[in-house]
Parts: sequence; C-alpha cells; structure tokens
Amino acid sequence: MEKLYEGKAKVLFPEGPDTLRVYFKDEATAFNAQKRGLIPGKGVVNNKVSATLFRYLEAHGVRTHFLEELSDREMRVLRVEILPLEVILRFKAAGSFAKRYGVKEGTLLRAPLVEYSLKSDPLGDPLICPEAILALGLAAEEELSQVRTTTLKVGELLRDFFAQRGLDLIDFKLEFGKRQGEILLADEISPDTMRLWDQKTGEPMDKDRFRKDLGGVEEAYQEVLRRVLRG
Ligand code: UDP
Repeated sequence: MEKLYEGKAKVLFPEGPDTLRVYFKDEATAFNAQKRGLIPGKGVVNNKVSATLFRYLEAHGVRTHFLEELSDREMRVLRVEILPLEVILRFKAAGSFAKRYGVKEGTLLRAPLVEYSLKSDPLGDPLICPEAILALGLAAEEELSQVRTTTLKVGELLRDFFAQRGLDLIDFKLEFGKRQGEILLADEISPDTMRLWDQKTGEPMDKDRFRKDLGGVEEAYQEVLRRVLRG
C-alpha cells in the first residue's frame, strides 16, 4: 500500500479518512540523523510499549490518538494535525539540558520541567519559549495551556508506572495533534523518546545506549518491553 509519510522510525499508511496505520521500523537515528543504525526488534518493542502506555494513559483520562494494535509492528491511530512542537518533560537533568546548564546528569530538578522545541530537522529542533510559540501562531494560548497540563499529568502517570517496574523515568518527549478542535496525545512513547534508568544499577535502558555506544542496546529495549508487559 502507498505510504503517506516515512519518518526516521515509523511509516504512516493511509486507511480511511479518519485513521492511519503506523508501522514501527528498526532503524535508529541520533544527533539530528548524523548517526544512523539498526536496533533489531526495536520496532516491535516501540509498538508494544507505545500501545501499552497509550492504553494506560487513556484509562487515566488522557485523550490520545491510539485506537488499536494491529500486529507486532503496527497500530491504528486517529488522523491528527500534528502541532510542530516537541514537548519535553524532565524530572532529572540529562542529555542536552545537563550540557546546556553544566549540571551533572541525574541531578533531581526542584519540580518537573516542561520545555518545548520547534519540530524542524533543518533547524535542528531549536528550543522555543511559550511566548514565541504564541507569537508565531504555532498553537493558541488555550491549546498550549492544555498541552502543558496534559504533559505534567502524563509525567506523573508514567513516573508511577515505571517506578513500579524498577525503572526511573528521567525525561521524555511528547507530540500532540489536533482533531476536530480537540488536542490529542500523538506520536509514540517508547525507549526512543524517554530516558529510563534501572533503579538498582543506574544503567540507561533506552536510546542513550545507542547514542553513546554503550552496547547492549537490543537487550535493554527487550528488558523494557518485558517489564512494561509484566503489568
Ligand atoms: N527526545 C526525543 N526526540 C528528539 C529529542 C529528544 O524523543 O528529537 C527525547 C530524548 O530521548 C529524551 C528527552 O526527549 O528522553 C530529552 O532529550 P534532550 O532534550 O536531552 O535531547 P538529547 O540529549 O536526547 O538530544
């Protein structure tokens, strides 16, 4: 079937006027696609982890684009108009935040922090402040306020979910879409888009193993899936 869109980690296929089929690939990229590789089995892990987390969030009152799992690597979702924003929630300093402010990775923040980046590969996803989002008309004030509130709620829910599975949620990225005037959580929530550290060993169990060439990438993804499915 003809693709609607192919991204770095997923392919979107059109279905009816209202729905899409998302296919999760094993291809991995980092540092704005300067680093490329393959993580065998990643597509299966990301599909199943995302589906499980979307169901969990829906059960707790978060509206998402998720409809159903179709196969190991595919899910059906509602078509939405994606807001051109990456919404990042941080509990502890890591990655670009730790580097930008010169703080040690793992430093606990006084309160969960919401940050926004403009989704733009040519510009390298620059940070953007809420005032600039409004000034550029990328989202309306009411929409941005809903995005922020939902992100904080998702953060609390996911932190509890992973804590019960021996994983420390450090930070994560969300994307939102609009459908018939409503804001829905969209995209994926997976070890590609979160930092998860093993509570006992402090080892990263996410895409940082690929970014930093730490080894055991496939194994870490499989272990996250095993713990997520443990229920
Ligand atoms: N993240 C993502 N996609 C991006 C950038 C970041 O999913 O294009 C996730 C990343 O995996 C981490 C969180 O967002 O869980 C915060 O990432 P950060 O801003 O520290 O950027 P990074 O150091 O990963 O470039």
